[in-house]
Amino acid sequence: MKTVLETIDRERPDAEALRRAGEIIRRGGLVAFPTETVYGLGGDALNPESSRKIYAAKGRPSDNPLIVHICRWEDIYQIAEPVTEAACRLAKAFWPGPLTMILNKKELVPRETTGGLDTVAVRFPSDPVAQAFIREAGGFVAAPSANTSGRPSPTLARYVQEDMDGRIEMILDGGEVGIGLESTIVDLTGEEPMILRPGFVTQGMLESVLEHVETDRTILDADCRLRPKAPGMRYRHYAPRGQLTIVEGSQEAVIAGICDRSRQAKAKGQRVGIIATDETAAFYRADSGADRIKSVGSRADEAAVGRSLYRILREFDDEETDVMFSESFSDSGFGQAIMNRLLKAAGHHVEQV
Ligand code: AMP
Ligand code: MG
Repeated sequence: MKTVLETIDRERPDAEALRRAGEIIRRGGLVAFPTETVYGLGGDALNPESSRKIYAAKGRPSDNPLIVHICRWEDIYQIAEPVTEAACRLAKAFWPGPLTMILNKKELVPRETTGGLDTVAVRFPSDPVAQAFIREAGGFVAAPSANTSGRPSPTLARYVQEDMDGRIEMILDGGEVGIGLESTIVDLTGEEPMILRPGFVTQGMLESVLEHVETDRTILDADCRLRPKAPGMRYRHYAPRGQLTIVEGSQEAVIAGICDRSRQAKAKGQRVGIIATDETAAFYRADSGADRIKSVGSRADEAAVGRSLYRILREFDDEETDVMFSESFSDSGFGQAIMNRLLKAAGHHVEQV
């Protein structure tokens, strides 16, 4: 299959290209598209055959449900029931935006889309290109991240192309995404609302709308033997090809610890990468002997860190890096999402110094 790459100007999206993209979805084909979080791999959420194609294109286990994307708030009533009071309040506060809500599904949504579950994950993205595309596609687009299963989610169309070329019909290239980490997922089907995946909408933000919100304990805890409640969080995920180690401690000790480990790895002939911050990169340049030192941005700017993390993991892959060392980040607020993805990328390999 030939994959067409369409460049979309965010300021003035080409209506004709979006119409063609929507047409592909209506016919049962697949199109990757930008959202404010990461690039999505879209298919018709109401067509079981489209969902099967999504699993095949990603190499994703078919018990890992897909998020259904809508472009009008009221469309939620066609796919979920009951739409609870909590769901209405969260939608009012955070939609359109990077929040996914889990509710009981209606008949209209095939089990192929929900990985066999009776619940459905719904999101109304804020990205105008995503919204226009969903509208053209018929209003219900199932879309996981547009990466091969197990690789970091794509934040640029170039990375979608790397993973999906020849497997899908079209990629809408809308440039670099704004947030860079996947949406917050909150489950509203239990006794208490529960965060299954942290994202840009933090627990504090959710609690400013709903009194109390729980967090699935498996999110940051490496030793936890509980099963994560979002099926997708069970799989090894967001992983670069080389081994990533997070080094934790005071800033001084971390710099020294990473430099030591880097020199030892170099001595063994390994290709070494370091994930640094603007505050520390110069120290590693002077002392670590690493092949590549990449800054995720200033430690004070969590949005920048979130946005560059997956790009940097992909760059290390492209440069065939054998081992990587990263500093650790605060795990409060949006930092919780950053640390959750970093820990997964590292296979929870953390060393204290
Ligand atoms: P992705 O689309 O790649 O961002 O992954 C979607 C995530 O949402 C995965 O971790 C899924 O397991 C999770 N998810 C989707 N639908 C449900 C659902 N009905 N219940 C629990 N988790 C879900
Ligand atoms: Mg994903």
